[in-house]
Amino acid sequence: MLKLYNSLTRKTEEFSAIGGSASGGKPTVVGLYTCGPTVYNYAHIGNLRTYVFEDVLRRTLLYNGYQVKHIMNITDVGHLSGDQDFGDDKMEKEGGDAKEILDLAKKYTEAFLADIKTLNILQADELAPATEYIPDQIKLIEKLFEKGFAYETELAIYFDVSKLTDYPKLTNQKLADMKVGARSDVVIDKNKKHPPDFALWFKLAGKYKNHILQWDSPWGKGFPGWHIECSAISTKFLGQPFDIHTGGVDHLFPHHPNEIAQSEAANDKPLSNYWLHGEHLLVSEGRMGKSEGNFITLQTVVDKGFNPLAFRYLILTTHYRSKLNFSWESLQGAQNALNNLYAELSTYDPAAKGAPQFEQTFLDSINNDLDTPQAVAVMHDLLKSETPSADKLASLFKFDQVLGLKIKDVWEAAKVIPDTVRKLVDEREVARKAKDFARSDELRRAIESNGYILEDTIDGFKIKKKF
Ligand SMILES: [Zn+2]
Repeated sequence: MLKLYNSLTRKTEEFSAIGGSASGGKPTVVGLYTCGPTVYNYAHIGNLRTYVFEDVLRRTLLYNGYQVKHIMNITDVGHLSGDQDFGDDKMEKEGGDAKEILDLAKKYTEAFLADIKTLNILQADELAPATEYIPDQIKLIEKLFEKGFAYETELAIYFDVSKLTDYPKLTNQKLADMKVGARSDVVIDKNKKHPPDFALWFKLAGKYKNHILQWDSPWGKGFPGWHIECSAISTKFLGQPFDIHTGGVDHLFPHHPNEIAQSEAANDKPLSNYWLHGEHLLVSEGRMGKSEGNFITLQTVVDKGFNPLAFRYLILTTHYRSKLNFSWESLQGAQNALNNLYAELSTYDPAAKGAPQFEQTFLDSINNDLDTPQAVAVMHDLLKSETPSADKLASLFKFDQVLGLKIKDVWEAAKVIPDTVRKLVDEREVARKAKDFARSDELRRAIESNGYILEDTIDGFKIKKKF
């Protein structure tokens, strides 16, 4: 039984898919929508933590026998600095014409996809750049007009939050308190009815008179607000309601409540049944960001000589709803643990049946709101146990469907011991039997310099690959 913490109800709930249980006759497809990157820069490791958490969620659904239809948007227009209306468009800050802006978006999208692949994250079934779904967004805004939730000023089209009794969902913030925060926007647009109203569409007027990316709309040329793309794209592919919507905790306000407001107002039904949010990654106890000057990319991690999967391992050792305080020391610790794991399994016999008790405990852990620290602990308990190595390996292969540490690849690569090393091992056996210990030690060192470690055990010796 899979249990997930639902931000909407603030409770851990048993997951129930719209399509029915996973053990029914035909496969159940779970609709999963994850907010994608704003592609104006490289992703930092804090962003990437969220995508690893979402990957674990997707893999856990698969592990439980569901199929998953995973949709992710790519924000390439309309995400304004400060996440509020009337900031600078993040995409247009660097300047350039429309082609240059979209080329930049493509460049950072490619870089993002490369990071995803490096971290062994399964790519979404559909990656939807906002700029390719403008007609869908316009249609949704028109619907909001028809139903009386939208209004027009000289500068923009707004969603009227006063028309909803339960705005904003997901957050503890009260509408009354939010008015203070949104005051600066009111100064810019005096015709905005209520400070928390948010923009659905910006016109080419005022601050955005010269906005480069622009499209025709019933309200003249302009560009969409940030939130509308996710409402339009998610339901286009998944219908409404769909099963699970995720993002980082920074989306708890304003992005996700605004998505909910738009979609529920337009279609009179919930947008998504479950909402999951991944916590922040902190650097030296502080938030990471370009403005904070501690912007670490995956490339920085690789340049410092780490295996990027050590970063994935580090993420797994903290629960997704807890803050992860990143340090190079903690990454080194993760790298050591991963190397020991790889070295150990390089000695294992080909996979056999598996270890059922460990597999059950592992399943219970991930099904307990994706408790990956516990799941990793179960993996280490298995390694330390008396279970035959062939059964350990079979279970590890299963665990790795969720953990994604490339255990099978590593084992397959490690079991092919090069002939040069084999020869040295044979020679060393001869020397050892002849009690020529000096020669034996010399050969052991030669084996090590070829990337393998020879360990004597009561049953003979093991050849471990060095990592
Ligand atoms: Zn979104």
